[in-house]
Amino acid sequence: MDRRFFTDHPILHDAAQLTGPEAEHLIRVLRGQVGDAVTLFDGSGGEFPARITSLGRSVVDLAVLARHDVCRELATSITLGVALPKGDRQRWLVEKAVELGVSRLVPLIARRGVAEPGQAAVARLGRYVIEASKQCGRNRLLQIAAPLPWEQYCRQADGAASRLLADFGPGAIPLAQLSAPDPTRGVWLAVGPEGGFTDEELAAAADWQRVSLGPRILRVETAALTLAAFFSLQDSVTNVPPGKLGS
Ligand code: SAM
Repeated sequence: MDRRFFTDHPILHDAAQLTGPEAEHLIRVLRGQVGDAVTLFDGSGGEFPARITSLGRSVVDLAVLARHDVCRELATSITLGVALPKGDRQRWLVEKAVELGVSRLVPLIARRGVAEPGQAAVARLGRYVIEASKQCGRNRLLQIAAPLPWEQYCRQADGAASRLLADFGPGAIPLAQLSAPDPTRGVWLAVGPEGGFTDEELAAAADWQRVSLGPRILRVETAALTLAAFFSLQDSVTNVPPGKLGS
């Protein structure tokens, strides 16, 4: 895969421009030159082979050569609600969620939460999404939703076919015993904060399926990614890339 760069301006014509961190990366880190080939993506599902036509101090102009629609998404859409951990662990969580194909990440506001991201923090998470998408080849961006109080998240998920809450409680079934989801229906996942959900919060999800991830206490990001990986792997069995079928 060529070097990939993201532009948040939809690519509709045979020319495109990179600015901001993407231009910085291409100009200063990779020392791009006029004529170099790169691949652009704009989050619409397409990827665009392109060539650099000019480089300024902080702007790169490119000629767009083609559009290829390349889907690297899961067949099942995953919404991951998670009470975020602190610091660098947020970056790790977002990066891996992108790689595993999660569609939407909702930072949950919970009583025992340790991090309530403000606007700047949400923007930073969005930047991690772009970096991870460049690396793993996704042409649609994982959406970082605005932080949501836990009870509101539960209400939004009302009526969803699959709602799974990572929980140690006695009614929790082992994740491995879950049956494969219907790929045409979305899955909603929830992981509590470092201090766990309160009993009152757990009551708001009384009709969610509780799933156990084993007898060890996992950190928030490990629990979230274990759930996401479970669905991502199921998808890789059913959503075999063309050319691999029957081989
Ligand atoms: N002391 C907290 C408690 O007892 O709930 C530990 C919370 S744990 C660090 C953070 C979240 O990860 C939990 O709220 C739960 O959603 C999820 N989690 C961690 N380990 C788990 C496991 N083994 N099974 C199910 N969920 C788990």
